[in-house]
Amino acid sequence: MSENSYDVLVIGGIAGIESALTLADMGFKVLLVEKEQSIGGRTALIWRTHPDGRKGVDIVRELVNELKKRDNAIILTKSEIWHVEGFVGNFKVKVRVEPSYVLKNHPRMKEAIEICPITVPDEFNYGLTTRKAIYYPYEGAYPELPDIDMRVCKLCGDCAKIVDDAINLAQKPMLHEFEVGAIIVTTGFKPYEPKPGEFGYKEYKNVITLPMFDRLLDLSEGGNKLIYEGEEVNSIAFNYCVGSRQVKNDSNDKVNEYCSRYCCNATIYRASELKKKYPHIKQYHFYRDIRTYGVNELLYLKAGEEGAVFVKYPDDEPPRVYKENSKLVIESKDVVLGGDKIKDLVDLVVLVTGIEPYNSKKISDILGISAGKGGFLQEAHPKLRPVETLKMVFLSRVQLKHLELLVRH
Ligand SMILES: Cc1cc2nc3c(=O)[nH]c(=O)nc-3n(C[C@H](O)[C@H](O)[C@H](O)COP(=O)(O)OP(=O)(O)OC[C@H]3O[C@@H](n4cnc5c(N)ncnc54)[C@H](O)[C@@H]3O)c2cc1C
Ligand code: SF4
Repeated sequence: MSENSYDVLVIGGIAGIESALTLADMGFKVLLVEKEQSIGGRTALIWRTHPDGRKGVDIVRELVNELKKRDNAIILTKSEIWHVEGFVGNFKVKVRVEPSYVLKNHPRMKEAIEICPITVPDEFNYGLTTRKAIYYPYEGAYPELPDIDMRVCKLCGDCAKIVDDAINLAQKPMLHEFEVGAIIVTTGFKPYEPKPGEFGYKEYKNVITLPMFDRLLDLSEGGNKLIYEGEEVNSIAFNYCVGSRQVKNDSNDKVNEYCSRYCCNATIYRASELKKKYPHIKQYHFYRDIRTYGVNELLYLKAGEEGAVFVKYPDDEPPRVYKENSKLVIESKDVVLGGDKIKDLVDLVVLVTGIEPYNSKKISDILGISAGKGGFLQEAHPKLRPVETLKMVFLSRVQLKHLELLVRH
């Protein structure tokens, strides 16, 4: 097998790392390709994961450390699938690799970062912190090198002067070609970004999304007060189904009709953890339906027993968020109380945002696989072949046995 030939190409995040590990351990030569500067996808942003309470970064680090030990698995970051042709067993793939600019570590790298004159909001923390144009994506990210954000870098070269040949600002993108036997697509999702003004988002600074709330919780670890924008948070309203199960109306041109399926569990888990860490914070949950399926129903019951207030709003009449005498208000009808109005004054509103397909149009065009309703990649059959496409194979451990036959013979 040539240097540029791989049994399997894996595209994407934590599911990609797990797939690459499993395949490498079965003796396959694996190429893992990630578009961002570090691998692990969205898991790294999670404060504490339901159900085991582990930090997202720790989960990513553990899996990456394992993968690094496998010499039959190669990781390419800042790399995107550019062109694919061929068929199962014989794909030809072009991958565009963006420059890393930082080529190796250097004892004075910290100084190089400090001297950078550009400071911007750090998107990893949803702007709750800042970073330089040259920066580490997050503590423990892999590769363990800083990245340079060319959208904001002004190419002054101050950083490069400190670390000599460890930084090369003149690097250019490269197109590499690979032959691969099979492709696993784990390109994930992106959280729904509310429109400005939707439930007060971007209108009032203390209306934030669930992913941002997770970063706030992470950055607040260790203290016994939850501080947002310099003020203590003593009451929170969670507003569910934002960007999920949307109802079409005149002001809503694009709707996500599907249930995002993670958000009820994720929010109620956080409600329980919040209670442990900040027992004084009052919690109000404005929901349409609570879909904590299976054993997670117990979490919902527990949150109620612990004092969280649940308000069921009508399907076609979600809550209103507005300001009254500089205080944030959330107001809704309560279906359980026969439609009576509930009005709460709170310090923070957390919009429980759903998920949307991430670049799936682009990836489905390149790979020649179809996208289904809602825009997510279409499985061959939702019940019988839920992780396969009609073109290529997305494999479970059992199916990997069949892959061996496909690729090796
Ligand atoms: C607020 C929040 C809280 C959550 N809480 C929990 C929890 O408590 N417990 C839990 O189990 N789960 C939780 N989740 C869900 C969890 O984040 C996801 O299940 C998990 O991240 C999915 O992993 P993935 O690898 O499928 O996709 P992702 O993490 O989305 O990774 C996909 C990767 O693919 C890359 N990619 C996309 N397109 C391309 C391309 N064309 N070329 C190369 N790379 C590409 C992306 O850059 C990304 O890194 C939560 C999610 C959110 C938003
Ligand atoms: S070259 Fe870019 S990254 Fe380096 S110091 Fe200047 S602005 Fe910062």
